[in-house]
Amino acid sequence: MAKYTITVIPGEGTGPEIWECVQMILDASGVDLSYEYADAGLPAVEKYGYPVPPETIESIKKNKVCMKGPTTTPVGFGHKSANVTLRKALDLYANVRPARSIPGVKTPWQNIDLVGIRENTEDSYAAIEHWVSDEVAQCLKVITRPGSLRIIDYAFKYARAHNRKKVTVVHKANIMKITDGLFLNCGREVAAHYPNIEFQDLIVDNMAMQLALKPYLYDVICLPNLYGDILTDLMAGLTGGLGFAPGAIIGDNYAMFEAVHGSTPKYIGMKRVNPSAVLQAAIMMLEHIGEKEAAQRVYHAMCAVLAEGKKVTADVGGTCTNEEYAKAIVERLKAA
Ligand code: NAD
Repeated sequence: MAKYTITVIPGEGTGPEIWECVQMILDASGVDLSYEYADAGLPAVEKYGYPVPPETIESIKKNKVCMKGPTTTPVGFGHKSANVTLRKALDLYANVRPARSIPGVKTPWQNIDLVGIRENTEDSYAAIEHWVSDEVAQCLKVITRPGSLRIIDYAFKYARAHNRKKVTVVHKANIMKITDGLFLNCGREVAAHYPNIEFQDLIVDNMAMQLALKPYLYDVICLPNLYGDILTDLMAGLTGGLGFAPGAIIGDNYAMFEAVHGSTPKYIGMKRVNPSAVLQAAIMMLEHIGEKEAAQRVYHAMCAVLAEGKKVTADVGGTCTNEEYAKAIVERLKAA
């Protein structure tokens, strides 16, 4: 039996082909992993009638760790998001999204090292919606004190554990004085327990402008669910785009690792989508299970291939397929 068994949801669109690349690299990392495959999204709807079957939840509860590919959520109709369902069912409340400059990936900014910590179970993103009449639709934005305290406390604990200096809490409390006001007040309350970490709060629209103008001024950024969804994509754009943006979705008992990006339907079958975001999510997974040395080796092999620039995907100016890129990383790992 392998040392670690992880649940794998390969995902939809380009998800399965990216997972094959990442699995090839994980298999060359020397870590004794085995994979238990599970369904979510449209394949699950077709098979079971709903986007996340109990078998998938049971597998993650048993293995505690899941690698998840992107799932496709129809816009404006159809089945409920598998992501929202999984996050709620497993109480995966903290979405940790690092945005770090990668050697060899050219962007307008260098030396960016941000971490977005996004609340992942509440807010209007929980999609509690209904029709009031034929012409009026309503969405409930629910922000709770326990939910806000735990995500902001998670952000401060993360900052302390990773030797970071500042936590910025993002809100729109000038307009949504009750819901975002609650989030902001929880920020002030939690910050008082961490006197060695600087606390700052910013209104979300200003945060968006500041990230475009002076991203180097920020460190850990803690956001409610919807603002976090949007601004962590902006942060990904600062460090090379969605092809490089990983995420960990953490609860008290289970952890799920995935790319920030979606199923990139327009690239299905072209093998051109960059697997680096899912690979970095897998690196976060290796760190999470305690395989820090292997995580570092894989990261350095990826950076070496990117810095050389010969076997890279189209989004960073290359002509390689994602499979050729993954094979180049495997060769680096073997040579190390
Ligand atoms: P997307 O992230 O799939 O793609 C947006 C654009 O970003 C792409 O057209 C491409 O130009 C670029 N991009 C994304 N990933 C890339 C990669 N790995 N390499 C190179 N370029 C990359 O977003 P979308 O088109 O808005 O959404 C498509 C579907 O994915 C939707 O159904 C959406 O609901 C779903 N989605 C799922 C998740 C998830 O499961 N975690 C996250 C976001 C979107």
